[in-house]
Amino acid sequence: MGTYRIAVLPGDGIGPEVISEGVKVLEVLERVVPDLRLECREYPAGAVCYLARKDALPPETLEACRQADAIFLGAMGDPKVRMPDGTEVTPQISLRFLLDLYAGVRPIKMYPNVGSPLHRQDPGSIDLLLIRENVEGFFASMHRGLLVGDQVATDTLVITRRGTERVVRFAFELSRKRKGSPVTGTRVVTCVDKANVFRSFAFFRKVFDEIATEFPEIKTNHVYVDAMALYLVQRPGDFDVVVAENLLGDILSDLGAGLVGGLGMAPSADIGDRHAVFQPAHGTAPDIAGQGIANPLAAILSAGLMLEWLGQMHRDAAATKAAGLLEHAVQQVLKAGRVKTRDLGGRASTGQVGDAVAGSLR
Ligand code: NAD
Repeated sequence: MGTYRIAVLPGDGIGPEVISEGVKVLEVLERVVPDLRLECREYPAGAVCYLARKDALPPETLEACRQADAIFLGAMGDPKVRMPDGTEVTPQISLRFLLDLYAGVRPIKMYPNVGSPLHRQDPGSIDLLLIRENVEGFFASMHRGLLVGDQVATDTLVITRRGTERVVRFAFELSRKRKGSPVTGTRVVTCVDKANVFRSFAFFRKVFDEIATEFPEIKTNHVYVDAMALYLVQRPGDFDVVVAENLLGDILSDLGAGLVGGLGMAPSADIGDRHAVFQPAHGTAPDIAGQGIANPLAAILSAGLMLEWLGQMHRDAAATKAAGLLEHAVQQVLKAGRVKTRDLGGRASTGQVGDAVAGSLR
């Protein structure tokens, strides 16, 4: 395989701080895995970019994203930077629509020595993939809701057959590659909805059931979203792959992150048929930005998801190997338990955690 072009969009707040640790780890991997070649180039986007240029996603950045083999993104937005309609700039969400990144992959995984608000969660006891439909559902009316005379506001939920079929199929195909839920060892895809109340969600469930017949070897499960919030806390180890509408997936992925050490431990991937963005699930954390204390592991693990995806897309053993090494290095650093940022109960800086992962790789 030749050189992968990676468009790097550090963004705002802690985005650049955690992304530079991700790039540091990728550079070490290039030296450790001889056939892996990456060309990482930075492009502006986000709230600072909006203030400077009145454009949060300049055309040259979008074009670079379209041309890249993968996109590695920090986080974007600043609650103090508002557009005329009162909403924040969200180029990271616009990219999902512009590049048709329909599957939001949110791994929820318990690593060693991370700590969970749940009692007695051993490493590996939670290991599920939450797949969030990324380009329709409640977000279909993003920035297009109606406000009537300062009295009534509406946003419309949109579920399409095509949108549901492709994300559900994506979820089943991922389950096929996994070992099942950590507790039962069974491959099972869970459909999360509110089909008891809303016609749109009943349709989502119907399409889910139709697609499930293409994967007879994988079990299925249906859970209403309110019950899912309960089960994720009570028995998260029972789940393998979970698929949900956009807003439901958005909320459940933060709940899932909370179970496995917080947003600093939550990587993510937004994947389409041609493009993909890899970014930590967290935002720009203005409360800790500039202090060098942000946890970079979500960003580093997102770089790992990027390598895994490149390996699959291009049938490239070097990228797949690099993804495995990165995951192993993070496991090793956490197992040793000495270098952790404040959110995990440690005192290490963002840079020291990046150095520890890089050191483990060497
Ligand atoms: P946030 O994720 O930025 O922060 C929530 C809490 O988690 C904060 O207390 C923060 O300090 C902590 N936190 C987040 N990441 C951390 C890390 N790596 N290490 C340690 N602690 C971490 O969410 P928010 O405060 O709701 O949003 C802040 C800004 O980020 C807003 O402008 C919002 O629009 C934006 N945002 C962007 C994205 C994205 O770019 N994908 C996602 C969510 C929020």
